[in-house]
Formats: sequence, structure tokens, C-alpha cells
Amino acid sequence: MIITDTHTHLYNEAFDEDRDEVIQKAISNGITRFFIPAIDAGYTQSMLDLEKRYPENMFLMMGLHPTHVKDGYKEELKHVEHMLSQRHFYAVGEIGIDLYWDKTYIKEQRKAFKFQISLAKKYSLPIVIHCRDSFDEIFEVLEEEKSEDLFGIFHCFTGTEEQAKRALSYNMKLGIGGVVTFKNGKIDTFLNRIDLNHIVLETDSPYLAPAPYRGKRNESVYLLEVLKKLSQIYGLDEKVVADITTRNSKEVFGI
Ligand SMILES: [Zn+2]
Repeated sequence: MIITDTHTHLYNEAFDEDRDEVIQKAISNGITRFFIPAIDAGYTQSMLDLEKRYPENMFLMMGLHPTHVKDGYKEELKHVEHMLSQRHFYAVGEIGIDLYWDKTYIKEQRKAFKFQISLAKKYSLPIVIHCRDSFDEIFEVLEEEKSEDLFGIFHCFTGTEEQAKRALSYNMKLGIGGVVTFKNGKIDTFLNRIDLNHIVLETDSPYLAPAPYRGKRNESVYLLEVLKKLSQIYGLDEKVVADITTRNSKEVFGI
């Protein structure tokens, strides 16, 4: 059984004390593929270090996270553009719009999102979308940008059934993580009506730990809780859910 964590910030400072232990524990539990979203230029070196240490397991993305779109965002976007021109990354991410923390830079967030979508198209890469309190704004951009060659993942999907279906209509898969195990998470009530072929697994670690670890530091091995919950929702063996969601991740990332 191969389990794929399609979204984990393993380079985050939260793992500085025990990163190798966390990764080994996950690997010995079958979680062997880790897709690593970027935040901003400040983390690029730690991402490259992680890949160098685990070349068989770590797959890097490149992008500027919407909450890091501030006054200097144009410089940050140049970095993203430069890195993408230098070597292969598996996606442009994570990118999008976040209006939960701060609405000050909404115009810039939108511009950065659109620019990075154009980079994804240029390199035929998937996008990994971060959407928080911003479904309308994200869908508006996707409506403008939609095309055959635009595809990817709606990371940490927490919307309604209607929003899920709309996301799928733009060639997006749904990244499902700890929220599916929360009592008030709501997505567990309709996911069984969404074909499993559109679902990928993720932790978003160190954030959003699933029950019963909610509130603690999240780590990749907790993906087993998400797998367990999805196997209940779909009425399928955990191995089947792991196989299908890993296959879906291969379809998106090309590896
Ligand atoms: Zn993330």
C-alpha cells in the first residue's frame, strides 16, 4: 500500500527538532510520497535541502502563498518565475486568495494568483490552490483562466457540495485532510457523492491535525486517520482508497 501526502510543509520550523524521525515514521507506515508546497523565497533553500536528503520521496512545488503577498510581492514572483525556469517542479503552489487573515492586499493577491496560473500554463504544470474565505474570488479567476491545460488541486477543500462540483468542473481534484475527521467539518456529509477519482489525500502538516490529534502539531503519519475516515465514508478498504488516491496524485503531478 502506497499512501501519498499531496500537501505537507515538512521544511517548516515545527519539525526542526525531529524531522527525520517524523519522515521515517511516515515512511514505515506506507506514506512514502510527499508533495511539498512553497510559501515564499525564504523557504526555498530548506525545501531544496529536504529534497536532497530524500530524493526518492520528496517532490517540490514552487509558488508564492497568498498570505505572503505583501508590498514586496513582485520580487517574490520574480523568484518563483526564476526558479521555474531553472529546474523541474511538480506544481505551481500553493497559490490562491486568502481573505481570512487580511483583506488589505486583495488586489495584489488576485494579480499574483493570475500571474502564477500563467506560469503553470507555460510549463504545463498543475496548480495547487489555497482558498480561505474566498470561494467567490477564486472561482471568478478560474472562470477567466479556465482552459484545457489548466488543472490541479483545490488544497484543503472545506466547501459545500455545490462548491466541490464547481471545483471539479475546472479540472481540479479535491485535497482532503484533517477537516474530514472534525465533528463540525461538514464535508464528510456529502463526500460519498463525489467520485473517489477526484480525491487526493493531504495533511497540510504541521497544520490541521485530524481527530483525535486535533489542535496538536500535525504530521504525515496522521494521514492514516484521514485514510480511515475516507474508507468509512466510501465503504471501501483502506488499501483501495490509498491506491485510488495515489493514482489520482500521479495523474495530477505526473509522477
Ligand atoms: Zn499549505
